[in-house]
Amino acid sequence: MTSATTSASGRSAGVGLAGRSALVTGAGSGIGRSCATALAAAGALVHVVDIDARAAASVAEEIGGRPHVVDLARRELVEELPADIDILVNNAGLQHVAPLTEFPPERFEHLQKVMVHAPFLLLRRTLPHMRARGWGRIVNISSVHGLRASAFKAGYVTAKHALEGLSKVAALEGAPHGITSNCVNPGYVRTPLVEQQIAAQAAAHGIAPEQVVGEVLLSRSAIKRLIEPEEVAAVAVWLCGPHAGYLTGASIPLDGGWTAA
Ligand code: NAD
Repeated sequence: MTSATTSASGRSAGVGLAGRSALVTGAGSGIGRSCATALAAAGALVHVVDIDARAAASVAEEIGGRPHVVDLARRELVEELPADIDILVNNAGLQHVAPLTEFPPERFEHLQKVMVHAPFLLLRRTLPHMRARGWGRIVNISSVHGLRASAFKAGYVTAKHALEGLSKVAALEGAPHGITSNCVNPGYVRTPLVEQQIAAQAAAHGIAPEQVVGEVLLSRSAIKRLIEPEEVAAVAVWLCGPHAGYLTGASIPLDGGWTAA
């Protein structure tokens, strides 16, 4: 581990990642973008993976990383991504809301491909390099929905629970080689995905956006505010730092007390 560095933003305080390579999926937006930015601020060379070419290019340019335009649902493309990765952040994800009986099977399958199958393929691809270096960090951006269910989110809840299992297996297999694997489990995060949901629900219910946040999204959270993507990224970077080496196979709830109730 290199000596600790502190970025201008303070996001990488205590974590020095110079000489490390990181791959962040879904890094063109939201939480992935914040993780990529924070890892780069800590000194890592970041591979910015996203299906959105413009977003991938703009984030990569901003942080001095490398863009990769890849649809993670396509195995042959995932298997062309770099394998010499020290830090893997499995972040890309998407939501579909429908009752089980109306949930389109192809949509269910797509969610599993992006949120479970791609992380599995990327683990297979990058673990040999981590093992050879005797050091690796796997950070899986799960969700409170990796620990709890909500109605109408069959595809998402299934995928996130599966990611939890995959993360634990990687923790057990990685331990003898200096590799840790953990999940981060946010509640509702202020990202474009959630901002859109707030606007849509406000229009659908004929209520103000603040009411949607307080009464709908945060009804199960003890802390009545959204979490910011930078707060999630700070934990992801901390998991790569010198004080987190004994933490593995865990799931860190950044859920404002949702799972405490
Ligand atoms: P976002 O929509 O802002 O970003 C997701 C990114 O993933 C986008 O840039 C998108 O282009 C990319 N992506 C989607 N499908 C892809 C594919 N097939 N191939 C490559 N890239 C693809 O979403 P976000 O809110 O930042 O969510 C990121 C992760 O955090 C997801 O796994 C999500 O489940 C999880 N999460 C989000 C929240 C929240 O409230 N926003 C809460 C808990 C967990």
